Amino acid sequence: MSPNKTNLPTKVCPTCGRPFTWHRRWRLTWDQIVYCSERCRRSKRKHS
Ligand SMILES: [Zn+2]
Repeated sequence: MSPNKTNLPTKVCPTCGRPFTWHRRWRLTWDQIVYCSERCRRSKRKHS
């Protein structure tokens, strides 16, 4: 195991491609969080 000073889970935002770390405001909805921010969630690209 690699030492992690925060030990918080992270995800990668599919809109901006940046990794983001768990935030307290997501403590109840983390499993549903896909985008790092409301802006990214709204600007999600539609490829079809
Ligand atoms: Zn993002």
